[in-house]
Formats: sequence, structure tokens, C-alpha cells
Amino acid sequence: AAKRNGQPAAEYDHTQEQQMRNRYGLLNELRQALQSQALQIVLQPKVELVSGQAVGFEALVRWQHPDGRVITPDTFIPVAETAGLISKLDMNVLQQTLSVCRDFLQQGVALPISFNTSSIDLLQPGYFDEMLAVIRQSGLPLELLELEVTESQAMVEYRSIAHQLRTLIALGMGVSIDDFGTGYSSLAHITDLAASVLKIDRTFISRLGESDDANHIVDMILRLGDRFGFQVIAEGVETEQQRQLLIEKGCRYAQGYLFSRPLPPEQALAWAQAHA
Ligand code: C2E
Ligand code: CA
Ligand code: CA
Ligand code: CA
Repeated sequence: AAKRNGQPAAEYDHTQEQQMRNRYGLLNELRQALQSQALQIVLQPKVELVSGQAVGFEALVRWQHPDGRVITPDTFIPVAETAGLISKLDMNVLQQTLSVCRDFLQQGVALPISFNTSSIDLLQPGYFDEMLAVIRQSGLPLELLELEVTESQAMVEYRSIAHQLRTLIALGMGVSIDDFGTGYSSLAHITDLAASVLKIDRTFISRLGESDDANHIVDMILRLGDRFGFQVIAEGVETEQQRQLLIEKGCRYAQGYLFSRPLPPEQALAWAQAHA
């Protein structure tokens, strides 16, 4: 029998079987969701900290489950990644992002929108070219689009991914390193990191003012931004105290529930118009 952590496997593990069933069920439903347009994007505003003005949005995927629930991505993105569905999902999200971006532009809101990208996409032959083709076909100014990839993911196979990210930057698109500060090896590449934006991970923001370590890490990331020319944005800002501390530290941009939750496209447009 298989062993886990050196322990003999239980003869019949109910939890494990339940988990596998759930996963299998989830996977089938996710396949259907991708076909039936049940995956929809919401947009979370990014703001300038001092003025509170909208400076952009992040597109985040939501699953409108047939049973009425709205499922957040943390439960199904990992499943999509291991099941080989993530590229389809991310391409779907990109198409929606482009369409929302065009709508906003037509309504006079010319703000960049970022979309999340799994490293699996970028390591898959052909994905990058298809992504670029789709973006070009949209005819949108490339300055209005920004790719987000998490720090830990970007550092796996950094060489091949960095080349793609540099191409985007050269074309005028933004590239953010998401969850910055939680990965291990980006400091080794910091002098020529293939990015234009560092997003300070929420775990540091939530401990600002309570933890010396979090304070120092946020200071350090802001200094790296200054020194090496990255825009820095704080994610997960929830309190006025966090906002004040970030302003004192010289951070210019943020995103978080204090300003707005992720919103359906129409509400996001109205939000941007009210915070112009
Ligand atoms: P992320 O890219 O780090 O996105 C930020 C997450 O923090 C979002 O959760 C957002 O709703 C949440 N958030 C924003 N402000 C606050 C705040 O003030 N407090 C707290 N507690 N949370 C806040 P969400 O939408 O559930 O997304 C979770 C993760 O799923 C994302 O983390 C991203 O890694 C992934 N994801 C989302 N959409 C996509 C997608 O289209 N493709 C891929 N590959 N991954 C996606
Ligand atoms: Ca993100
Ligand atoms: Ca993040
Ligand atoms: Ca995250």
C-alpha cells in the first residue's frame, strides 16, 4: 500500500475518496461552465492612494454555478490548472477583459485592465502567440492591458517566461508581478526583472502597523520600486490605518475592500466615472 509521510496508508480513507469525488465532480462542472459562459469576470478598481481616483482595474473570474452560488477562483483555479483546463479558462477571461475594456473606452473610461495568467499558460507552446494575436485583433491600445503573474510562478522557468514578458513590455503592455514578497528568487533577478509593476502581497498589508517585519518588507519593496523603476501597488487594503501608513511610506497605488470590492462590469464603469 502507498505510504504518506512515512505512515502506512489507511485501508479505506473516506476523506480521500470524498475529496477525489468532489474534485472529479467539480472538474466536470467546470468543463460545462466553460462552455456555457458561466464564468464571468468582475473588476476590482485600483486607486491612487492620496486622491482616491481610479487608475485601473483587475479582472477576476467568478463562476455562476447553476445552483445559484457564486464560486470564487481559489476553489477552481487549482483544479483547472491540474486538469489542463487553465489555458482555456484564462483565454476566456482575456476575451471578456478585452470586450469590457472596449466598452469602457467607448464610454470614455480609458483605464488599464489587468488579467491574471497562470505560468502553465506561458509555458505551453503556442499560448503566448495566441494571446498576442487575440489582443492585437481587439485593436485596443496595448497600454490599456496588463498581465499579472504571481511571483512564485514567474520564477519557475524564469528564463523562458521572462522573454515573453519582455515582449509584452516592449509592446507597451503592463506586466505585474503578483503576490510580490512571497516568492523566493525574484531578488536574484531584480536588476532586470521582466516586469513593470510589483504588487505587494496582501499578507504584508494586513499586518502593517502590527508587525515590524511586515513594515520592513513593505518599505523594502517600495525602495526596490524606486531604485529599479517599478510601479508599486499595495493589494488587500482594508482599513483607513493601512491607507495612511502606505501614504506615509510613499506608496502611490492600492487596491482593496477599503475602496471597492470587485464589481460587475457595469458597476465598475460607474465607479470609475464617479472616481475620475
Ligand atoms: P489575486 O490575483 O492575488 O487576487 C486578489 C484576490 O484578493 C481576489 O480574490 C480579490 O477579490 C481579493 N481581494 C481584493 N481586495 C481584498 C481585500 O481588501 N481583502 C481581502 N481579504 N481580499 C481582497 P479572488 O477574486 O477570490 O481571486 C483569488 C485568486 O484567484 C487571485 O488572487 C488569482 O491568483 C486567482 N485568479 C482570479 N482570477 C483568475 C483568472 O482569471 N485566471 C487565473 N489564472 N487566476 C485567477
Ligand atoms: Ca492578481
Ligand atoms: Ca495578489
Ligand atoms: Ca494571490
